[in-house]
Amino acid sequence: MVDEVDVVVIGMGPGGEDVAARLAGAGLSVVAVESRLVGGECPYFACVPTKMMVRATDALGEARRVPELAGRAEVHPDWTPVADRIRDEATTDWDDEIAARRFERTGGRLVRGVGRISAPGEVTVGDQVFRARRGIVLNPGTDPAVPPIDGLAGSPFWTNREAVPSREVPESLLVLGGGPVGLEFAQVFARFGSSVAVLEAQPRLLPNSEPEASEVITAALLAEGIQVRTGNGVEHVKHDGQFEVQLAGGDRLTGQRLLVATGRRTDLRALGVGAVGLDEQSRTIPVDERMRAAEGVWAIGDVTGRGAFTHTSMYQARIAAADILGQDGETADYRAMPAVTFTDPEVASVGLTEAQAEDAGISVRTGSTRIQDSTRGWIHKVGNAGIIKLVADAERDVLVGATVVAPAGGEIIGALAVAVHAEVPVSRLRRMIFAYPTFHRAIESALADLGT
Ligand SMILES: Cc1cc2nc3c(=O)[nH]c(=O)nc-3n(C[C@H](O)[C@H](O)[C@H](O)COP(=O)(O)OP(=O)(O)OC[C@H]3O[C@@H](n4cnc5c(N)ncnc54)[C@H](O)[C@@H]3O)c2cc1C
Repeated sequence: MVDEVDVVVIGMGPGGEDVAARLAGAGLSVVAVESRLVGGECPYFACVPTKMMVRATDALGEARRVPELAGRAEVHPDWTPVADRIRDEATTDWDDEIAARRFERTGGRLVRGVGRISAPGEVTVGDQVFRARRGIVLNPGTDPAVPPIDGLAGSPFWTNREAVPSREVPESLLVLGGGPVGLEFAQVFARFGSSVAVLEAQPRLLPNSEPEASEVITAALLAEGIQVRTGNGVEHVKHDGQFEVQLAGGDRLTGQRLLVATGRRTDLRALGVGAVGLDEQSRTIPVDERMRAAEGVWAIGDVTGRGAFTHTSMYQARIAAADILGQDGETADYRAMPAVTFTDPEVASVGLTEAQAEDAGISVRTGSTRIQDSTRGWIHKVGNAGIIKLVADAERDVLVGATVVAPAGGEIIGALAVAVHAEVPVSRLRRMIFAYPTFHRAIESALADLGT
């Protein structure tokens, strides 16, 4: 039997949940298909539980700074409260009933199972077939990408999906991948007592960030005893009770656990996007500025390749919902896309890096300052390493990008995100009053360094 509905949403990640609720709330008949947990990766295996880990880790890091500032403190890390909090508060023991009920209260219908586009305007879930009068929204998200390294497949490696529910801190951990996910886990487990090595094939950690940011974070991790091996890929993995990896160049490292954090992937073939003329071999589903991917098909979230963040997915959900409802809504503008790696110090960015701005043919001017040279940085003392780097379009006199590495860098970047988003002239930013002595006041020094 075929069910006629207005919209079928495949995948209930943060964006799918948002778009489905908006459309159902507006009175459309909406079927939302979810094969795992309503809410997607973010609340159960990613943003929320990892930031609970980071919160605990930050407390440990600060406690260890007490001797330099405030006397004595004995730190005895215990993973149990972290694991309990993730189980009880973040994920309700990986149960999505609350989220499912929340969606159903909007009037939508949740269908559990794997959804597949079986024909234009048609989605099949097991033996159920849905015809979507207005459209199909794809929010399949991503799965961890596992690189084709000899010996890795079949070994009991971790991805974020095993690391998050873990009730134990491994004695030693090899982290494959020096991107945001790898670095957050590396610092978390190291501060809880694990002996950690980060292995990154590119020449530097956070290869997509400003080189100055990589330098600061590498120094911070090294200072905490984390091994950092860059510039050599892993050629071979062996598991024999413990992991042994061999790097290009011959070095071998061992660890009780191996965490793979080398990017994400989506199986577009399984999603059946070929039925609507999309390339099933592609890594992403390209969309226009209204999230349209094909006739009657919208795509949102990680799969669009416009920044694998929850805020991207929810931003795109709002735009897609307005388009489906026929409202003359906003169109997507990614110029001021923010990103935060929640290490200590936090590495935050918005817009373009210097290299990206140059590649875009912009007449680039940069300005930077060190956090430890600011009054607040000097007061802060231990743990004050950081930078602010601004990237300006000299012709237009506006910022097109910024990076902040600092304590609370993810908060400081907010001010710069406003500047990039609203294209506030640099000359006007220079006339702002920055509260004394805040970390964000260092923006004033970076602006001065931009020159004229
Ligand atoms: C360790 C880690 C930490 C992160 N931390 C942050 C952070 O701090 N901040 C941030 O903004 N982002 C963070 N991210 C990224 C963030 O988790 C994702 O960008 C976010 O979840 C948005 O993804 P999405 O909406 O595309 O879908 P997802 O959250 O991936 O959800 C997609 C859903 O679709 C379902 N699905 C897929 N295919 C089908 C199908 N055929 N039928 C039915 N259901 C299907 C899946 O089961 C899943 O539930 C982190 C990621 C990781 C891995």
